Amino acid sequence: MTTLLESPPATPALMPTYNRFPVTLVRGAGCRVWDDQGREYLDFVAGIATCSLGHAHPRLVQAMSDQIQQLHHVSNLYHIPLQAELAAFLTRHSGADRVFFANSGAEANEGAIKLARKYAHTVKGYEQPVIITAQASFHGRTLATLTATGQPKYQKHFDPLVPGFVYVPYNDLTALTKTVLELEQVAAILLEPIQGEGGVRPGEWDYFQGVRRLCDERGILLILDEVQSGMGRTGRWWGYERLGIEPDIFSSAKGLGGGIPIGAVLCKEQYSLFQPGDHASTYGGNPLACRAALTVGQAILELDLLSQVQQRGEQLHQGLNEWVTAHPDWFQEVRGWGLLQGLVLRPSAPFQAGDIVQRAIAKGLLLVPAGPQVIRFVPPLIVTEGEVNLALERLGDALKQ
Ligand SMILES: *Cc1c(COP(=O)(O)O)cnc(C)c1O
Repeated sequence: MTTLLESPPATPALMPTYNRFPVTLVRGAGCRVWDDQGREYLDFVAGIATCSLGHAHPRLVQAMSDQIQQLHHVSNLYHIPLQAELAAFLTRHSGADRVFFANSGAEANEGAIKLARKYAHTVKGYEQPVIITAQASFHGRTLATLTATGQPKYQKHFDPLVPGFVYVPYNDLTALTKTVLELEQVAAILLEPIQGEGGVRPGEWDYFQGVRRLCDERGILLILDEVQSGMGRTGRWWGYERLGIEPDIFSSAKGLGGGIPIGAVLCKEQYSLFQPGDHASTYGGNPLACRAALTVGQAILELDLLSQVQQRGEQLHQGLNEWVTAHPDWFQEVRGWGLLQGLVLRPSAPFQAGDIVQRAIAKGLLLVPAGPQVIRFVPPLIVTEGEVNLALERLGDALKQ
């Protein structure tokens, strides 16, 4: 295979916000994509856990072309039946009763944060409400979600940050309880059921049971960020189903529209506190995006994708585990749920996650790091047994190099 590191295309008009791999993808079909040199790759990134149905899925192609010919965008000044239909679908397949539509994960989390603050002011009578989040979390790049994100590297140079956020270690109930007891006006606890960007770290059952109990006892909202973990990614509709609890509020985005931008904030009836004028989004829940999410949701049901994700996730997990067994000097463990898996490197390994991702690209496999020490695997939910085997084979080629 040709070497990868030719110089990247000149992009003088773009802000250089991204460290890009020197690859230009121009076409996709299913779990495969092709670059401008005609090279084929297995896509185990899927737009970072976003292209749930892979690329150019016939259902999505058909639905999008139908919808764009009929009506793609109208204002929320008017009734949008597809929005109502999608909200009904999502509430039928979750513990939520009400939905607000946005366009991204950060925007969905912003909505959740605003909802929590309105709850604090109007129900609890708090003037300075606090939201507790976890260290190593990731909630987005807008100012409030960047503040909620418990990773100082994302916050540097962007202060003053939004007030009212406090961080605790993840999966540590003692630390959380202590912080709740010390603070006066805790409105909400915001957590990922499984930390994605922070290193594919699953939430622990006992921890989340304890968090739910603590929230119930003290009238604190439990908000879950399901942006990466939701919509079938873990082999359940929502990651929280793996923790035996239900949140009061949760957010969704990434896989929700299968690559068409859409986000959502979902909540129980009693926390549906927004009144007309409180919150809005021009694009939020437009017909095209809602049709995409409905198409993804219906495909998950009709193609039985939840059980497929469980099986393919198990296959991937076991295949990766063979590398841990074979190379305990390089690898610490494999962790994750369903098709959100991470191969965790030892700090003493002779390479970092980014190095392996580079080498895998050269072998025809797209992967994405989750921090310097974790190689993340998030293929489309439609990935086949043969494609998982092929990905493991190409990973093997990259590791043996
Ligand atoms: C990606 C991600 C976000 C941010 O989503 P955007 O659509 O990029 O704004 C928020 N939370 C989690 C858990 C994510 O993985």
